[in-house]
Amino acid sequence: MKNALILLAGGSGKRFSNDPKSTPKQFKKFGNYNLIEFFLKNLDDKIFDIIVIVVKKSSKIKYLRMITKKFDNHNISFANSGSNRQESSKNGLYSLIKKNPKNILIHDSARPLASNKLILRLIKCLNTNQSVAPYVTSNDLLKEKKTNLVIDKNKILNIQTPQAFKFKKILEAHKKFIRKDYKDDTSLIEKIGIKTKLIKGEVLNFKLTYKEDLLLFNNFTNKEFRSGIGYDIHRINLKSKKLLTLCGVKIPYFPLTGHSDADVGYHAICDSIFGALSMRDIGYYFNNNNKKWKNANSKIFVEFCKKKLEENNYKIINLDLTFICEKPKIYKYINKMKKNISSLLYIDTNIISIKATTNEKIGYLGSGKGIAAQSIVQIKND
Ligand code: ZN
Repeated sequence: MKNALILLAGGSGKRFSNDPKSTPKQFKKFGNYNLIEFFLKNLDDKIFDIIVIVVKKSSKIKYLRMITKKFDNHNISFANSGSNRQESSKNGLYSLIKKNPKNILIHDSARPLASNKLILRLIKCLNTNQSVAPYVTSNDLLKEKKTNLVIDKNKILNIQTPQAFKFKKILEAHKKFIRKDYKDDTSLIEKIGIKTKLIKGEVLNFKLTYKEDLLLFNNFTNKEFRSGIGYDIHRINLKSKKLLTLCGVKIPYFPLTGHSDADVGYHAICDSIFGALSMRDIGYYFNNNNKKWKNANSKIFVEFCKKKLEENNYKIINLDLTFICEKPKIYKYINKMKKNISSLLYIDTNIISIKATTNEKIGYLGSGKGIAAQSIVQIKND
């Protein structure tokens, strides 16, 4: 076996969130992927013969089985993390003893933006070195806290991962210095007299440590855009004396009939959002036979959609709604409708479009017996 990778993912990310119960950052989803998945998604599957993900024993839930399924182009196995970084790294290495790879790269899962180019450069350097690590220098002026003296920034190196080693050598170092707390593997291999070759790392290969780092990460990740379409139609009740409700606006016209308040505009919007999220349709979540939704105010459904967008880290780019009816004239109410949608979905009115058209007196809609609405929405992961 030639190349293996150990991906350290056992941390609890204390600096990332104060809540001890919160999901560790490497398992938090940003759009469709968590940090581990994001790294694996971009990793060239021809580089490594095996990838060992080191995780807390308690995290080895079915979610991890999902990773192996999702990325079956990589040969993935798991090892248990230890009480500190060194022990986790050791456990990963020990799990590979039988496979005996020639080269091993040890990487921190909180650096999801390490490029294939960097990885290949590290591996190439192993032809003539036993230990290789990437570094970057600071772009800021560096000063010593106590003396206020300016420090030559070339004297300070920020060491990154992945760190690359000859498997036998790093294993030897770990066997020799067990139960210590070395912060990285180069510090450990240097203890057995092996010098680490430092090569230029990548500024984008930064470690996501604090919440603010997420903002940076979001800017560098590929945004995923999705769109959804929704359609709804309700019959007009010409006998009722109640008012018509469209997108929460009361309109002096005959109302629509339906199990809820029959707000055809809100219903079409909901279905377009469900569609964009690949989440079935409004009838699935708010069943017509459920008494709970009898005469319900449809804004509840829109609020539910907003919650789903948030849970899945998606943001609306724009929303375009069209009413199809002979009567009433809609344009007078468009601004009010936009305001309602805007406050329910927390989006600007300038990304909402509402139009109306007639059915040219053709068919059911053309005879004025009903009102239909079509909505299209585009969303992006955030
Ligand atoms: Zn409806």
